[in-house]
Amino acid sequence: MTFANLGLSPELLLAVAARQYTLPTAVQTEAIPAVLAGQDVMALAQTGSGKTAAFALPLLQRLQQDMEEGSKQRKVKVLVLVPTRELSGQVGQTIETLAEHLPKKLKVAVIYGGASINPQMMHLRGGADVVISTPGRLLDLLDNNALSLQHVSTLVLDEADRLLDLGFADEIKRILEQLPAQRQNLFFSATFSPAVKKLALALLHEPKRIAIADLTENLPDIAQRAIAVDADKRTRLLVHLIKEQQWERVLVFVATKYASDTVSNKLKKAGIKTEAFNGDASQGARQHMLADFKANRIQVLVATDLAARGIDVAGLPAVVNYDLPRSADDYIHRIGRTGRAGASGCAISFILAEHEMHFRLIEKRQDKRVPRETLAGFEPSQTSGDMTPEETDAPTGGIKGKRKSKKDKLRELAAQNK
Ligand code: AMP
Repeated sequence: MTFANLGLSPELLLAVAARQYTLPTAVQTEAIPAVLAGQDVMALAQTGSGKTAAFALPLLQRLQQDMEEGSKQRKVKVLVLVPTRELSGQVGQTIETLAEHLPKKLKVAVIYGGASINPQMMHLRGGADVVISTPGRLLDLLDNNALSLQHVSTLVLDEADRLLDLGFADEIKRILEQLPAQRQNLFFSATFSPAVKKLALALLHEPKRIAIADLTENLPDIAQRAIAVDADKRTRLLVHLIKEQQWERVLVFVATKYASDTVSNKLKKAGIKTEAFNGDASQGARQHMLADFKANRIQVLVATDLAARGIDVAGLPAVVNYDLPRSADDYIHRIGRTGRAGASGCAISFILAEHEMHFRLIEKRQDKRVPRETLAGFEPSQTSGDMTPEETDAPTGGIKGKRKSKKDKLRELAAQNK
């Protein structure tokens, strides 16, 4: 998915490129078309997910379409409620920069408490198109007739959970009373406590539901398994698991492009619909594969970390680490691709005896022990206990443990040979 595919205008695409956003984030891919279509949205999204641009871009586009040329008095069409002064500033800045290239200039007002009200009242003279505000100060300004909310067509609640945590429930209620009943509502929250859910349900009308889970928080929902196996039995084991588990779709991670080609070829020979997902395939070819994967025309994608970076397939039932990742962070990213959108998922790692130590470091990072399993017919010929520490090493460099890394050893060798 690209920004251009999401239906944004050339001016907004220019702004996106200027900010060096190359690909839309998951929440942007889901939210932008829905917001453009005028739908309500309920998104579980953290700071850092790209949620601001997810609502700002489509709202800017719609504002451009609706704006009356030459009108002196601006009417507030978009109201963004935020919990804090910092966030109001950040959101205001993002909207201003994304609006930079738009032909019809917009007026954005950023309002917050804890600062003098007069400059804010002055700024609101002549109205504004977009108001970003903390709830308390907005009510003060409304009480002073400094603005009207009668023409608001979209309300955004940003970080709704924090709005409630900070005790703004009553203020929100009073603000809602001043808004037209007929409007679009966009609701963003990092968590969904019962109170947040209640507010969302009261506010939203047939919303598009978007859940972009935080990777680390989501880990407990993912069943992690570690299967000890010999290197040359991995493909057979993979075929066995695919058949036994009857996964609709599975993402298999390997360490190199070469491995992605060879493993996928072997799976194809076993009659499994598979593609190698690596940097050798063009962007277009990869998008095609992803579409086929999502539509269940391909059952298995054998991917490298690099190529898989942009993959976001909701409800992926399983991820297999055919090769272990280099780092614990990569591990978390890989397994975070399963169990998305509230669905439960399964992550299976194949553990070669020589990679046992590396996997222990990965376990340590997430403070979780994953019991080692052996499967009948796939028992490893060697266990890590049979090996000297020198024989065990990370698959491709890996994270630094106490032992010398390959690089360290090479450096020492080079120094000795001088
Ligand atoms: P937010 O979740 O809205 O607070 O955004 C987090 C950060 O991600 C901000 O610094 C944005 O500028 C940045 N960002 C938003 N969308 C993208 C994108 N599609 N690609 C790269 N960075 C982005």
